Amino acid sequence: MRLSRRAALAALALGLTGLPALAQMPWRRGREPQKLAVPSMIVLDAHEDTLRRVLDRGDQLGERLADGQGDIAAWRAGGVNAVWFAAWVNPTKYRGEAATQRALRLLGALRDQARMYPQHIALCDTAAEVRAAVRDGRIAALAAVEGGIAINNDLSLIARFRDLGVRRMNLTWKGNLDWAGSSQPLPSGALPYSPNKGLSDFGREVVREMNRVGMVVDLSHCSDQTFFDTLAVSSRPVIVSHSNARALADHPRNVTDDMLRALRDNRGVIGVNFYREYLKPRSVRGRLLTPTVETVLDHIDHIVRVTGGTDYVGIGSDWDGDIQPALGLETAAQMPALLAGLERRGYSADDIRKIAGENFLRVLEASESPVP
Ligand SMILES: [Zn+2]
Repeated sequence: MRLSRRAALAALALGLTGLPALAQMPWRRGREPQKLAVPSMIVLDAHEDTLRRVLDRGDQLGERLADGQGDIAAWRAGGVNAVWFAAWVNPTKYRGEAATQRALRLLGALRDQARMYPQHIALCDTAAEVRAAVRDGRIAALAAVEGGIAINNDLSLIARFRDLGVRRMNLTWKGNLDWAGSSQPLPSGALPYSPNKGLSDFGREVVREMNRVGMVVDLSHCSDQTFFDTLAVSSRPVIVSHSNARALADHPRNVTDDMLRALRDNRGVIGVNFYREYLKPRSVRGRLLTPTVETVLDHIDHIVRVTGGTDYVGIGSDWDGDIQPALGLETAAQMPALLAGLERRGYSADDIRKIAGENFLRVLEASESPVP
C-alpha cells in the first residue's frame, strides 16, 4: 500500500513499517510503558472520536500528534487493546442524505487505517473477534455510529450499517430527531429541541431493528425519556457508552441513579467519560475542583454502589472528542493510572477485568444471538 509522505515518515518514526509489532519493541528509549495493574486483560475503550481527525485532517493512527489523545503509540503504551471508534455525525454540518454519507466516510477512514497498519489494528465484528485480535497482539477496532441522524429516517439503513461492521449506534447526538429526544439542544439550532422528548413509534421500530440485526443501542446523548422509552422496548442489553453519574456531576449528559438501576435491570453497561465537564468534582463547601483520575474513580465507585455490583460499568473515555480530559488521563497512554486506581481502591482482579472490558464484551456478545 502506498503511504502518503507524511504517514510514511510517521510510520518510520514509530517503527511501524513491517518491523516487529510495537508491543514487542522497547518503547521510547529510557521510558518503558507503565505496567498494567492486571496484565493480559482486555482493556476496551468504548468511545473514542479519533476518526474525525483522521478523515478531516488526514491524521494517521501511526502518528503521535501533540493534540491527539488516541493513536497506536498511545494505545500500546497504555495497554488499551480494544477501541470502539465513533463515526460521529455533526448535525450542524450534515443532515439528510449528507448525514449518511458522512458516517460512511468516517467508517471508510477506519477501514483505510486498518489496512495501513495491519500489524496493529484489527477490524472486529464480534466479541470473539475482539478476543482473537487481542490474543494476536493487535488492537481490536470496533465501529459505532454516533447519531441516529445517519439513518436519515430510513429503517433499512440500520442493516446496511450493520453489514459494514457497525456494532452500535447512539440514537441521538445533540438536538432532537423526528423519532428520538436528546439530552441537549444543538447550539447551532440546526435541529429542533424541546426537553423531555422520548421515542416516537418509528423510534421504537429503530430499537427493534437494531435488536434484530445485532447493533447495540447506545443511549449516551439521549434524553431521560428516550432512555426509559428504549429500555421499555429493547429486548437486548443497551449501553450508555460515554456518560457519568448525575448524582456526582449534575449535567444532562450524565445519568441519574434511577437510570443506573434501570440499566442494571436491563443488564446493560455505562462507560465512564473522562471529559472534565461531565466529572465536576466539588469540595465539601461546594467549590468546583479540577477533575482528576480520582474523580473518574469516584464515578465508578458511585455506579458500583448504586447498581450493587461491578457488572454494569466500563470505560468510555471520549478521547479525541474535543474534550479536556481529567488530569492524569490526558491520552490513552495514561490508562494504567485508572486501572491502578481501581486496584488501589480495593477492586479485585476479576472486578478490574470486568470494568476494563469484559462488561462491554458481554453486552456485545448478548446482541450476537438470534433476537429473543
Ligand atoms: Zn459523544
